[in-house]
Amino acid sequence: MDATFPQLRGLARTSVRLHPRKGHPSVEQSSLDGPLLWPADEPWPLCDDARLEEHPAGDPVPLVPVLQVFARDVPELPFRDGSDLLQVLWCPFDHDPWSAPVPRLRWRSRSAVGPRLVAMPTPHEEADSRYVPDPCIVDPERVLEYPSNDLSRELWSQIRDAVRQVQAETGWDYETDLAVASGIKVGGYPGWTQQPDWPFCGCGDRMEHLVTIASWEFSRGDERRWIPLEDRPAMLGWGFGSSDDHPWRALQNPAGLMLGDAGGIYIFTCTSCPARPDDYRFDCS
Ligand SMILES: [Zn+2]
Ligand SMILES: [Zn+2]
Repeated sequence: MDATFPQLRGLARTSVRLHPRKGHPSVEQSSLDGPLLWPADEPWPLCDDARLEEHPAGDPVPLVPVLQVFARDVPELPFRDGSDLLQVLWCPFDHDPWSAPVPRLRWRSRSAVGPRLVAMPTPHEEADSRYVPDPCIVDPERVLEYPSNDLSRELWSQIRDAVRQVQAETGWDYETDLAVASGIKVGGYPGWTQQPDWPFCGCGDRMEHLVTIASWEFSRGDERRWIPLEDRPAMLGWGFGSSDDHPWRALQNPAGLMLGDAGGIYIFTCTSCPARPDDYRFDCS
């Protein structure tokens, strides 16, 4: 990439694609949909946002486990001091301002969790199933990313000719194949669908991209590169006309999430602040 696009030198970022796979993770494994490693004496977080029309009346809503990542699997993640486990949960109902779940983070030290919660609460019966992931183990892979939506207009104009040439010679499209990896991942560039909207920390620094929770591991039509090599044989016969029971569906969307119209939730943290304050964004097609 550096030889073809010398203007992008210095903009490469490593992203850790988590490659969720349907399975039965234990509390000791990095996973989607848990079970989370949770102290037995720590109350399960509830959402009691009564302002929401979409929220069921009455009892507060238990958050659903979305992701847990251990440092031994993804040491690149900027863990809060003293922690080696990041957990992401959210309320499975639409929330303002984007009609999407609001992620909540927990930073833990694995060894500091004593007696463990045995059974997590079941999701609210009216929970939006598109916001409740199916249990998956993860299979981290490091890939090098280059900016796409985050590329300045000036740099775009400088690489435009090389992008056209690469496409003509190889069929690879810069934006969909070479720049930002799709799917659920840690670090790298956010998987924006729309224009970037990076949050800033109270300290004044721009936050860093921490995690993207995406609806899809790759898009149906055009993202050949982001399909893992070992999955490509199962993708044979895949295309716009293929039916939903073709294996592509499970490979593309193992966790069964759908955030808006194939959108994503992007979680950010401030690496200048040891407490790791966080913020998030949502966008979709
Ligand atoms: Zn809620
Ligand atoms: Zn800060």
